[in-house]
Amino acid sequence: MKRIMVTGALGQIGCDLVKKLRQIYSEEAVLATDIRRIDNEACQSGPFKILDVTNSTAFFEAAQEHRADTIIHLAALLSARAEKDPALAWRLNMGGLLSGLETARELSCQFFTPSSIAAFGSDTQKRGTPQDTLQRPKTIYGVSKVAGELLCDYYYHKFGVDTRGLRFPGLISHSAPPGGGTTDYAVDIYREALVNRSYTSYIKRGTFLDMMYMPDAIRAIITLMEADSSKLIHRNAFNVSAMSVDPEMIAASIRRHIPDFILQYDVDPIRQHIAEEWPDSIDTTAAREEWGFDVQYDLERMTDDMVMKLMEKLQDDKTKIS
Ligand code: NAD
Repeated sequence: MKRIMVTGALGQIGCDLVKKLRQIYSEEAVLATDIRRIDNEACQSGPFKILDVTNSTAFFEAAQEHRADTIIHLAALLSARAEKDPALAWRLNMGGLLSGLETARELSCQFFTPSSIAAFGSDTQKRGTPQDTLQRPKTIYGVSKVAGELLCDYYYHKFGVDTRGLRFPGLISHSAPPGGGTTDYAVDIYREALVNRSYTSYIKRGTFLDMMYMPDAIRAIITLMEADSSKLIHRNAFNVSAMSVDPEMIAASIRRHIPDFILQYDVDPIRQHIAEEWPDSIDTTAAREEWGFDVQYDLERMTDDMVMKLMEKLQDDKTKIS
């Protein structure tokens, strides 16, 4: 990766990824793009362009103008929002991906896009979900992720485009708010614990899902993209995860810092239904063996860092107001 274009760069992953890529490859080498503009580091610390990824001509021109050799395609509609507008989810998740793959083919770019644990369905083995297994999801988000994995593999086999991907679990971070996924509760719970000492979870007690802390997710993207192509047996997309947790486990971890934290439940049937389709814990052996995937944060270490970073942020906000 030398000259990189990122789509959906102002989202939960993009904000942290653009910052890290600019530290490694230089500010000017990383073009951040999104359909909207907000005043944050991804917009201000290097080149930024407004881009609607469903406009294939604009996608191509942005990559060509930047002389991109790598495309990191993040723009998508996430699970809970996708279920509310399936037609938009299909147009954005598949239309945007096709624009990106065609651009990568024409400009000979390396190409990364994330898949998700949503690419599995309720028929799939729930614990130790294998890398290669049954994928029959019933959500439109999951359907778009399986189709996306297949389309990326097709571009690799048919046109030789160097496509690579990760099946991300729920990602937890403090820089940018999550974008309407089923695992957003695991981000919101930290902020609410610090601000209100309580949180009402829309996901049921005992619902286990895979999660990962954002610094590990960013490291995984960069390590996979830098990995020796000849060592990759799989491409789209590798199972990755750091922990399998339910709301009670996160609450217990938070109580080490905030002993009076209260967790309550008001279950949202739509998001609960989506969560029950997904695996409890996925097997990451292929990622470990083929390109050395590993993680630095387990639940406790992640909680320590989340609490510290959010406290600093809340303190900064207070100082700005006064
Ligand atoms: P997000 O919702 O936080 O960000 C998506 C960004 O895309 C937003 O900034 C939005 O403005 C932008 N966007 C929307 N429509 C667009 C369009 N037409 N053209 C250009 N940009 C557009 O999403 P995220 O959490 O950063 O996720 C990025 C990718 O990772 C997605 O493919 C998602 O499915 C995948 N993923 C995320 C998670 C997670 O927990 N965050 C887990 C698994 C997979």
